[in-house]
Amino acid sequence: MRRVTFSRNFTLSLSRTCRCYCRYCAFATHRAHLYAPDEVEGLLDEASRRGAKELLVLTGERPEVNGEVAARLSSYGHEDFTSYVAWACERALERGMLPHTNLGVLSRDDLARLREVTASQGLMLESIVADLIVHQGSPTKHPERRLQTIRAAGELRIPFTSGILVGIGETAQQRIEALRALAEVHAEHGHLQEVILQNFVAHPRYYGAEPAQIADGAQREGTHGEPAAMPAWASPITLDDMRALVRAARELMPDVGVQIPPNLSDWWLPLVDEGATDLGGLSANGDHISPEHPFPSPHAMRKRLKAQGHALAERLCVYPQYMDAQWLEQGVLDVIKTSYWSFIPRRGSGRRSDRPIRRELAPGAIARARDGATLSEEELTALFAERRPEAIEDMRAAADELRAELMGERVTYVVNRNINVSNVCVVGCAFCGFGQGRRSPDAYEHDRDEFVRRVEGAVAYGASEICMQSGIHPAWGLEDYLFWLRLARDTAPGIHLHAYSPMEIAHMCDVSDMAPAEVFARLRDAGLGSTPGTAAEVLHDGVRQRISPNKLPVARWVEIIEASHVAGLRSTATVMFGHVEEPWELAEHMRVVRSVQERTGGITEFVPLSFIPHHTLLGRTHGIEEISAEENLAHTAAFRLALGRTVPSLQASWVKMGLDAATEALRWGVNDLGGTLMEESISRLAGSRHGVRLEPGDLIGAAHRAGRPAAERTTLYEIRARYELPVAA
Ligand code: SF4
Repeated sequence: MRRVTFSRNFTLSLSRTCRCYCRYCAFATHRAHLYAPDEVEGLLDEASRRGAKELLVLTGERPEVNGEVAARLSSYGHEDFTSYVAWACERALERGMLPHTNLGVLSRDDLARLREVTASQGLMLESIVADLIVHQGSPTKHPERRLQTIRAAGELRIPFTSGILVGIGETAQQRIEALRALAEVHAEHGHLQEVILQNFVAHPRYYGAEPAQIADGAQREGTHGEPAAMPAWASPITLDDMRALVRAARELMPDVGVQIPPNLSDWWLPLVDEGATDLGGLSANGDHISPEHPFPSPHAMRKRLKAQGHALAERLCVYPQYMDAQWLEQGVLDVIKTSYWSFIPRRGSGRRSDRPIRRELAPGAIARARDGATLSEEELTALFAERRPEAIEDMRAAADELRAELMGERVTYVVNRNINVSNVCVVGCAFCGFGQGRRSPDAYEHDRDEFVRRVEGAVAYGASEICMQSGIHPAWGLEDYLFWLRLARDTAPGIHLHAYSPMEIAHMCDVSDMAPAEVFARLRDAGLGSTPGTAAEVLHDGVRQRISPNKLPVARWVEIIEASHVAGLRSTATVMFGHVEEPWELAEHMRVVRSVQERTGGITEFVPLSFIPHHTLLGRTHGIEEISAEENLAHTAAFRLALGRTVPSLQASWVKMGLDAATEALRWGVNDLGGTLMEESISRLAGSRHGVRLEPGDLIGAAHRAGRPAAERTTLYEIRARYELPVAA
């Protein structure tokens, strides 16, 4: 699953008055055009109402060369246009929107002034050719002038967007040369966050009309204008030309995004397949440069991308790698930290608050954890925030030793089948791609026959466990949950029923008005064998408020898990990590899990579940990216060390991390590879690309590849079959 981004923005064409005369442009005017301050405030209020995160300020170049514009600027109290733009940007920041400006060629001083109030700036290089017909009368379209501005932006450490126009009279070779020129500037300063490959489309002229209004109308109604005739100076472009450019951009600037405007051709989807990474700013009020071409809706694009195996996610106008004090003014960074902190990349800590991490504690903590000691919150925090390769290797080695001491060399797995009886759910967790409203076209509910068929399938497959969880179905009462258990038990009397998350148990308690102990007694009588310790997410109420405010609080989760243990039903314990949580919140999670285990001893295994963001709200709109395999493994070791000798079994989830990473995790403290599952859907619907089932042979093979013997186990860790390492030939 590849992530493709866009920015939810609103365009402010503050002034269309321009000193240039580019022949392809329908945006610029040479009359006086300038929004008054009260009009700007009104537009910004509208942008805010329409949910824009970015204010895209598009303007003609140096509009104050027009005497009337200059006079109006002066009457508004601004000595020049840059000052007025900066004022508009400040008003946008006050409303929690991040400004991105594109004012044409600017002096270093103007760039610096705008840097104070913008998150990013941009200037298209357009072309490397100095004498294109389309640029006659536009001296600042000379590539040297433009590269000068782009270079100055790099010197000033301004996150920057540039790009080329394709089809304005240049040759295929000259397009590549233009990309090469951009790559050279980027190599000097590292400030290009994305390169736009924009195919030229011919426009009608808009004399006497306002492109902003045409664009807004077209965007609201989704209507496309009549295609205009291609002018004689235009060079024809094909999809293959664009494909070649995407490849060249990726090759020349592998760390720079490649943006394709999705409203100017139907090519955006094949170009994403080719490697394009971004679909630009999808302005709520349309494309002011090509107003007759409305943007497709994110919803429509998401559907088409999903079918191709891509996930559409929002980004901010400034790319994540630039979200720090080196690249952004404090006032701008403050808006990101206040309103968009989840877009700040994980760097160990500091997205929401700058708590000090006591890195000096790590070596001692690793040594003490290896001996099974309980670590302090500060020590655990230091381990979860650890980024130093040597310290991570020490964590890995200690976790591996602890695993060997507690569980030996054997790698276990369980042959099981997942059954999610229904995905109807009323809880609405922001991390969930599975739960659906009752009326959603994707909602389902198995009927009795389907359920029996699945249970019988599990028996025929040789499964020893059925793992059963569903959404929180508003119409289900305790009897429904009992019904499914009895049906499973009657259909497959010998099979272990591992069912119902603490959230489902809490729901049963609520609707039946019974205490957890009573509910568990009824469930046990109906065939329940053990309880999944899911719905734990992060056992910190602050995190729960942020990602699933309707979910059971920590104290209730603990109460339910302990009630399960008291009822003689052992449970697993899980953590879902790699989203909005901070290291100290994971430290708290581990304190809670460890203390439950110290009280009851009922937890059979600990299962770290890395977050799959792609088709979830957190991934789509909050900038959460999938955790890297390296970070995932480092966390795995930290979980093992945090548990000490309390919970002996640590599982790697191949569904979340993939079988290769899960196999590698066997060196990071893991002794168990989980289940064959047969029909995993919760992670698949969140965008996991690691499949829905594995054969026992896949898991045995993984253990053997890691140089370890394998064994099939039951849910409660009795060994069913052993698979020794093959004897070398
Ligand atoms: S995680 Fe569970 S409770 Fe939350 S929305 Fe998804 S199905 Fe519902």
